[in-house]
Amino acid sequence: MHRFFVPQLFGDEMTITGVDAKHISKVLRMTIGDELQIVSDDGISALGKISFIDAECVKVRDFEIIAESHEPRVKITLAQGLAKGEKMEFIIQKAVELGATSVVPVAMEHSVVRLDGPKADKKVERWQKIAESAAKQSKRDIIPEVQSVMSVKEMLAANDCATKIIAYECEDQTSLKSALKNAIEQDKIDDLLLIIGPEGGISESELELARSAGAVPVSLGRRILRAETAGLVAMSAIFYETGDLGEY
Ligand code: SAH
Repeated sequence: MHRFFVPQLFGDEMTITGVDAKHISKVLRMTIGDELQIVSDDGISALGKISFIDAECVKVRDFEIIAESHEPRVKITLAQGLAKGEKMEFIIQKAVELGATSVVPVAMEHSVVRLDGPKADKKVERWQKIAESAAKQSKRDIIPEVQSVMSVKEMLAANDCATKIIAYECEDQTSLKSALKNAIEQDKIDDLLLIIGPEGGISESELELARSAGAVPVSLGRRILRAETAGLVAMSAIFYETGDLGEY
């Protein structure tokens, strides 16, 4: 079943325009009476029938609401230190697939890549598109937001989640598992900020900034994971611990 995000509040009739309308009419060659799934701006997923179609506009009616949500209980914001080249694209695609609610590209001290001004805006635009297609493919109910490129300080100020975790390669006391156990016990697991360093790692001053904003430094085990692996591993473990991988 094809699924489209329609930027409108849910109503009796939903109108799909732009590239999606073109795709439905010209590529999928759908016609009046054909069924498709929509997800509205207020997060409602519904199955409907096409009532009008041309190259610019597709109207959908006769909705049956699909109650089941595809969203995880824990809303994870992945703050990822800027990584090189196509790695960020890979990280964003996979993070959205796994269930991240938001991704923040963070300009860190040891990031090799420097991004600012219009170049950064362009990249974010591209990453947002990647997030959108990953959201469609993995049947998310929302399109996770790719926030603008920020410094560690800005990122911490903009994402004041109930639980903040920083994966720190030199940490050897606190494990991700024990930090999660604490958060679950304190009922602070609904929204979680997960900070991952770039290839060059996290600097001590960045660690201190995060710590003073309430982030808990955790270890992801005895092996050093690459920047593009660490966030995905941590997210998988968080979803596993919170019963979101294959438990219904
Ligand atoms: N260049 C660094 C490694 C950076 S790995 C070094 O050689 O030490 C990139 C990021 O992944 C790290 O900053 C950290 O956030 C995360 N990471 C990788 N392995 C980790 C581990 N075993 N424990 C905690 N965090 C880890």
